[in-house]
Amino acid sequence: TSTVSDAFRRERYPYLRHHADRVYLDSAATSQRPDSVIDAEDAFARTEYAAVHRGSSMATGEATWAFEAARTSVARLVGAGEREIVFAENATDALNMIALGLSDASAGLGAPQLALAAGDEIVVTEAEHHANLIPWQRLARRTGAVLRAVPVDERGVWSVDDLARVVTPRTRVVAFAHVSNVTGYIAPVAEVVATARAVGALTVLDACQSVPHLPVDLAGLGVDFAAFSSHKMLGPTGIGALYGRAELLDALPPARTGGSTITTVTIDDAEFLPAPQRFEAGTQPVTQAVGFGAAADHLVDAGMEAVRAHEAELAGLLVDAVLSVPGTRLIGPGEGAERAGLVSFAVDGVHAHDVGQFLDERGITVRTGHHCAQPLHRRLGVAATTRASAYVYSTADDVARFREALSDVRGFFGADR
Ligand code: PMP
Repeated sequence: TSTVSDAFRRERYPYLRHHADRVYLDSAATSQRPDSVIDAEDAFARTEYAAVHRGSSMATGEATWAFEAARTSVARLVGAGEREIVFAENATDALNMIALGLSDASAGLGAPQLALAAGDEIVVTEAEHHANLIPWQRLARRTGAVLRAVPVDERGVWSVDDLARVVTPRTRVVAFAHVSNVTGYIAPVAEVVATARAVGALTVLDACQSVPHLPVDLAGLGVDFAAFSSHKMLGPTGIGALYGRAELLDALPPARTGGSTITTVTIDDAEFLPAPQRFEAGTQPVTQAVGFGAAADHLVDAGMEAVRAHEAELAGLLVDAVLSVPGTRLIGPGEGAERAGLVSFAVDGVHAHDVGQFLDERGITVRTGHHCAQPLHRRLGVAATTRASAYVYSTADDVARFREALSDVRGFFGADR
């Protein structure tokens, strides 16, 4: 009893049509694109493609209109103002832009209110993706700030109380994932924002695994900055979004500089445009932006409440599948708990890579490894896990096939003896 509209059926996805006998459960790594997105990119490339925000030709005008319409679509999906969405390469790029901007502010290149000083603190969690960890390590090294991590429990889960024990009056930044790409844990964003605000800290939300899957209203949540990737939400690779509250984006120094970002340039200095242009240096990925906008429209049309309902159902089935197999350890929130539509697990006596290969041979695409979260895996005491992740086009049948194959893994490797 899927609540998701026809626009999300398997048949709408060329890749899934092409691999009709396979099950794709790796959408947390990257999602498959519907015809509507590929067609939008194709039509734009064939008839409207030109450089944007330069010159005064009709061609540039039309292309700029399409580029900006894509921004509006993305903004609408996440409850942001149009000027609050900057096109970045991906979430990784967006997170680096924030950290590097704060680094520039700390080095005296503008926005003194955003500067960090030696002894200030940056708070992350132990469950972060490396993309939301390493940029903060570098910022700490550059500024003399101290990086502190909220500890997670044996399931990989943390709470706002755990966070509150780490935040101090010296905390300037709290950076955390809305949804963990390993545990599927959904962070209590509003409470984290309240905790950070109480000490005047900025919040940075890694929304990579939330914007594609949950209704997300960034302005309503009150976060200061956020990052997400088009390719995880039905769109193309090569583009993502940096969200920032307008007054912060207008203040944040641009990490990368060059054409398209400025008002006046002399040999000695440059003045930057307001956001978003101040961050979009160089010739923009216009076709990708059009695809990103089409993906956002697709999700708005389906309704994010419906997407979430569909995935919550699949999450329950995925958890059941893992718990049904003896000797298999579920990572993340357990049975009945709220979680995103993905499960990671470890199988006793069988390495994750062998699990992945076995499932692959049975026609099921999953992801194995540390999922760019080594500190989390170290804490959980496993080198690698296997992850099955669903999306709008995934079905209960997909999960049933996954469950059946998973139940044969330990027997095949002799780990049940
Ligand atoms: N954060 C999280 C939680 C992710 O799942 C990912 C992608 N695996 C990223 C950040 C990085 O996204 P990208 O590779 O698209 O920049």
